[in-house]
Amino acid sequence: MINIRVRVAPSPTGNLHVGTARTALFNELLARQQGGKFIIRLEDTDKERSKKEFEENILEGLRWLGLTWDEGPDIGGDFGPYRQSERTAVYTAALQQLLDQGKAKKGEGETIVLLVEPQEVVFKDEVRGEVKVHTDSFGGNFIIARSLTDPLFHLAVVVDDEAMKITHVIRGEDHLHNTVKHILIQRALGYATPSYAHLPLLLDEKRAKLSKRSGETSLLVYRDRGYLPEAMLNYLALLGWNPKNDREFFSHQELVEAFNLSGVQKAGAVFSMHKLDSVNKYYLQKLSPQELCLASLPFLEKAGITTSDTQRLEQALTAEQPRAAHLTDLASAVEWVADSWPGNYETALLIWKKSDAATTKTLLEKMTAKMQEISEEKFTENDLEKILLEWIDEEDMGRGDTLWPLRVALTGRKHSPGPFEVASILGKGEVARRLLLAQEKFGSL
Ligand code: GLU
Repeated sequence: MINIRVRVAPSPTGNLHVGTARTALFNELLARQQGGKFIIRLEDTDKERSKKEFEENILEGLRWLGLTWDEGPDIGGDFGPYRQSERTAVYTAALQQLLDQGKAKKGEGETIVLLVEPQEVVFKDEVRGEVKVHTDSFGGNFIIARSLTDPLFHLAVVVDDEAMKITHVIRGEDHLHNTVKHILIQRALGYATPSYAHLPLLLDEKRAKLSKRSGETSLLVYRDRGYLPEAMLNYLALLGWNPKNDREFFSHQELVEAFNLSGVQKAGAVFSMHKLDSVNKYYLQKLSPQELCLASLPFLEKAGITTSDTQRLEQALTAEQPRAAHLTDLASAVEWVADSWPGNYETALLIWKKSDAATTKTLLEKMTAKMQEISEEKFTENDLEKILLEWIDEEDMGRGDTLWPLRVALTGRKHSPGPFEVASILGKGEVARRLLLAQEKFGSL
């Protein structure tokens, strides 16, 4: 058995792209499954476009997904440095070797050109099978460096993969056509060729290449929009990998066990927001009250919703959970639980569609008095439901006429969990305060 070493090699010229996150994931899964090593290497040879902030965004995105790596720019390792900008000497040595051995020559200016005999290059791609390319298709000789200290991508990738003992190059299909050049450089330098697997492109719903125009491509924007990392990870795994059964939901550990390159498809993988939403909803529903609370906190903070009563918050989040698809929806849905809930809804919202202002005001007064009679002990969802429904029916007040304004008085919303549940979560004192506030809205009607 060989010691698998795989890598993801993003260029820090933009925020972490969902496609790069998918590439990172597939590499990581293979490494974890095979007891190998997963490496991050930053390909920052483009000095103008490479930025520290993008580097941070990339690592933060991979961490958010829950990926771990064994060597990388942040943690180092035996084969570093892991930023290409810090590896110039290694490239210069390789370029010098090629020049000395007559395998490359100086081109225009200071450029260095690899000398290529016309030939057909054949290699096996784990996803696409046998790939054959004739060197005539790209004109034979090609530039590998702008100067002895300024290598092009092709040279740097090959030299680094060798130096870092990479056994499997798993990357996006956009690099398939580069592979021939990489193999030619490997042969000229006397390196072995690693295994290759090119992952299918990500497509938008119109089956065009996924781009900023057709959808959001920045991974961390999904975090900020209230997607859960475990949902995103699960969804990314299914972009181009098929478990060959109908299974849709996998934890990270389950993916480590199930993943295999033979399940990677050739055809482009459609990034469907609709599908992602349904996966997110599934994971959101699975969170325990404590997990839900923890995951929602940054969103509640952003929405300015605070409460000193954690139990109340947990109950409110749990009550809203079945209807939420994103943490952002959830945070805005529980606005009613805030300590400083302003209750600044429109008065008209209190009036049920088949009712009127005078009736509503009277019923709110009666409801306020009735709530006063109910003991703290009976302020549970079930008891409130039983007591209030019996009372409404006995007094023939109409359930719609009475319960609609109760819901609005407590939440300021048309849609919320049932009013009995909300009342039990808010507790007797807060319910009384909100009912009074609702009555006051009618003034001296
Ligand atoms: N730096 C390349 C990219 O960001 C990856 C090259 C590779 O994986 O070989 O697309």
